[in-house]
Amino acid sequence: MTRIAIAGAAGRMGRTLIQAAAATSDLKITGAFERADSPAIGRDAGELAGIPTVGVAVSAALDAEFDVLVDFTRPAATLANLEWCARKGRRMVIGTTGFDDAGRKRIDEAARKIGIVFAPNMSIGVNLCLRLLDLAARVLGEQADIEIVETHHRHKLDAPSGTALGMGEVLAQARGRKLQDVAVYGPRSGERKPGSIGIASVRAGEIVGDHTVMFAAAGERVEITHRAESRLTFAHGALRAARWLAGRGPGLYDMQDVLALR
Ligand code: NAP
Repeated sequence: MTRIAIAGAAGRMGRTLIQAAAATSDLKITGAFERADSPAIGRDAGELAGIPTVGVAVSAALDAEFDVLVDFTRPAATLANLEWCARKGRRMVIGTTGFDDAGRKRIDEAARKIGIVFAPNMSIGVNLCLRLLDLAARVLGEQADIEIVETHHRHKLDAPSGTALGMGEVLAQARGRKLQDVAVYGPRSGERKPGSIGIASVRAGEIVGDHTVMFAAAGERVEITHRAESRLTFAHGALRAARWLAGRGPGLYDMQDVLALR
C-alpha cells in the first residue's frame, strides 16, 4: 500500500486525484493540503471531492505521514512543498506547470535528495505523442515547418501550456537545437524564419486540453493531435507515477521514465 498526500486538494486536479485515488485498492490517501485561508481547511477530502468520506481532514501544514506528495498547485506553493519534502526525505510527483528557470533549478537540486517525477502532462496519450513527435521531426526534417497550437479552458493561468513547451523541446532536440533559440510565440507577421517552431495558445470555455502539432512540408502536411477529454487522464498518470516512484531513490524522473518509453 502506497500512502499518498495531495497538495491543492480543493483544486480541479486535487479533487480529481482524490476521486481517482479513492477508487484504487493499492493507494491510501493519508494527507490533503490547501492554503491556510482556504474554506476547505478542516473538511473531509472525500466529501470535498464529492465522494464518500476518506477520513482525512484537509490541513494547511504538511503534517501527515505519507510516502509520496502529489502536487498540482501553483509554482510558489510547489516550491515551498519541495523544500519541506527535501528536508524530510519524502518523494514528490509534481504536476504544477508555469515554473521559471530558477524554479526548475530548485527542482533539479532537490532531486539530488529525493525522488521526483516532474511532468507538465501526466497523460499517457500525450507521453506517447512525445515519442511520435520525435520520430516525425527526424523523418520530415528541416523542410517541414512546425507549428504547435494548444487550447485550454478559460481558467488556465499560464501560457503557453507546459505540455506545448515540452513538445517544443522534443521537436527542437530532434533537430539538434534548443527550443529557446527557435521558438516563436503567438501570432506574428512577416515571412517565416526558416527552422523556427511556432507556439500559439487559445483560451476558451471549459476545454480540458488540446495539443496539435503541424508539420507542413512541400505537398503534404502531417498533424499529430492529442485531446484530453477528462482530468482523470492526468490523475491516472499521476497516480501511476506515485506508485512507480514509491520504491525509487533520489533523481529527477518524468513520465517517459514511468512509462518506460525512453
Ligand atoms: P486549480 O483548480 O487552481 O487548483 C490549484 C489548487 O492549489 C487550488 O485549490 C489552489 O488554491 C491551491 N493552492 C494554491 N496555492 C496553494 C498553497 N500555497 N498551498 C496549498 N494549496 C494551494 O488548478 P488546476 O487546474 O487543478 O491546476 C493546478 C496545476 O496543475 C496548474 O499548474 C496546471 O497547469 C497543472 N496541471 C498539470 C497537469 C499535468 O498533467 N501535469 C494537468 C492538469 C493541470 P486557491 O484556489 O485558493 O489559490
